[in-house]
Amino acid sequence: MNNEHYVLRVCHLYGNLLNTYGDNGNILLLKFFAEKMGITFASKIVSIHEDFQAADYDLIFFGGGQDFEQLIVSEDIQEKKEELSKYIEQDGVMLAICGGYQLLGHYYMGANGEKIPGIAALDHYTLSQDHHRFIGDIEIKNEEFDETYYGFENHNGRTFLGNDEKPLGKVLEGNGNNGEDHTEGCHYKNVFGSYFHGPLLARNPIIAIRLIKTALEKRYGKEMVATLPANEELLKLV
Ligand code: GLN
Repeated sequence: MNNEHYVLRVCHLYGNLLNTYGDNGNILLLKFFAEKMGITFASKIVSIHEDFQAADYDLIFFGGGQDFEQLIVSEDIQEKKEELSKYIEQDGVMLAICGGYQLLGHYYMGANGEKIPGIAALDHYTLSQDHHRFIGDIEIKNEEFDETYYGFENHNGRTFLGNDEKPLGKVLEGNGNNGEDHTEGCHYKNVFGSYFHGPLLARNPIIAIRLIKTALEKRYGKEMVATLPANEELLKLV
């Protein structure tokens, strides 16, 4: 299938700073499926002191990291806050993992008690927990898509969702956002946040396909996406 004139423009936000437990593997999955659809895949890292313009991208991937890197990103991302919020409100497609997911919200209380500001593009906030982390396998159910997702979580933060945010899924096994309310991750417009490392898309490829098709539909329209291989066909390739 040759769709090379269609381009998926991916922004790998702070890709050189935030990449714990193989989060960058999510980019490889996006590339894999884009190529199987015959689409041209163009990915660019946008990091500190670099300009981000919402109109330049169809999909953003934002990985996780240690508190140290998160602090650096937290300062820089304030410069990008306006454009990122615009991107999100204009239904831009985005996947944010762990530290990246935390920074889309109001703030994250680091393990040493420091308040690390987010951009409040989404309405969640994240507290810390004393001398403890949520580590282990996790399984969740997304009712909207009727899908079950599997992953591995490793985080100190305890995130509480805000207005307009749905969880990515209901926790069947593991801790999820905060170990209390049985939610994991978030879904707001076309933004998906999650604590799943490992990476998320390798174990849950249907999410990769959905992200790509949503991004392409937004840019090229429904008719173009209808010409792409069906999800079932694409899933057989992994
Ligand atoms: N530093 C954050 C926490 O511990 C994020 C960790 C991560 O991205 N894995 O909650």
